[in-house]
Amino acid sequence: EQRDIATPSRTREILAKHGFTFKKSLGQNFLTDPNILRNIVAAGDIDQDTNVIEVGPGIGALTEYLARAAHQVVAFEIDDRLLPVLADTLSPYDNVSVIHQDILQARIDHVLQEQFTNDGRPVKVVANLPYYITTPIMMHFLDSKVEIAEMIVMMQKEVADRISAKPGTKAYGSLSIAVQYYMEASVAFIVPKTVFVPQPNVDSAILKLTRRPQPAVDVINEKAFFGLTKAAFLQRRKTFWNNLQSYYGKDEATKAWLQQSLKEAEIDPIRRGETLSLEEFARLSNVMEANKK
Ligand code: SAM
Repeated sequence: EQRDIATPSRTREILAKHGFTFKKSLGQNFLTDPNILRNIVAAGDIDQDTNVIEVGPGIGALTEYLARAAHQVVAFEIDDRLLPVLADTLSPYDNVSVIHQDILQARIDHVLQEQFTNDGRPVKVVANLPYYITTPIMMHFLDSKVEIAEMIVMMQKEVADRISAKPGTKAYGSLSIAVQYYMEASVAFIVPKTVFVPQPNVDSAILKLTRRPQPAVDVINEKAFFGLTKAAFLQRRKTFWNNLQSYYGKDEATKAWLQQSLKEAEIDPIRRGETLSLEEFARLSNVMEANKK
């Protein structure tokens, strides 16, 4: 019987057999620890009734574990040099399709329709993300408006902390809000950099995101709401009031609109943006919309 792809010895053999060299620019740090893979699959409750989207299968270390546990797996890989490798390593599994595409160019909604038989199985995203585009990938999935039940994604620990951060903490920002609006976020476990080849410079974390039945807060105009959260964090050292003026304008009419809205929403303008909860941002955004002429 074959050893797991993720064992250090088999990984070395596969890399040597195909003469593969890592591209740092593509965020290629491959997992070489079957234990971590087991924990990822367990954290995602991946079972025979789950369809999985993977980003960046590499040589197939995680893909193999997903193929064994899930109903079907669709994996996006940008590096054409990995296609023959994956055809080789994943040949024992008939429920995996590898798509040669930049995930940021992929129409997720089309992929779901074309790749997964429309049978009501939940779709989960499970990936060891390429770290140079962690945030764009997360936003791409959220913007796709596709119903992803859960995301179990490995990323830099620092980014996982930012996404799952609570108000009033240093890590809390517009990214926390953008994600937590749709999903409940928590760090499942920390992964030391020693389990990758080559080793990255930073430690990693598995972030678990679970879709909320509806967004965390009621918002009249989502675009305006997300704009407001961006405004709040323009410059962290400044007060909310200063940042609001920088974002919306300093003319008298704008100032009056902002002052009146803050008063009605009962939010003190000298607070710092990072102390506002999702509820407070939503309340203020809705009042600002209502007061707009
Ligand atoms: N899943 C493998 C593992 O855990 O060992 C590899 C993970 S490695 C951190 C990231 C993978 O994403 C690499 O295989 C890389 O080629 C691929 N990748 C990088 N940018 C990508 C993109 N824009 N779209 C799809 N895959 C990408």
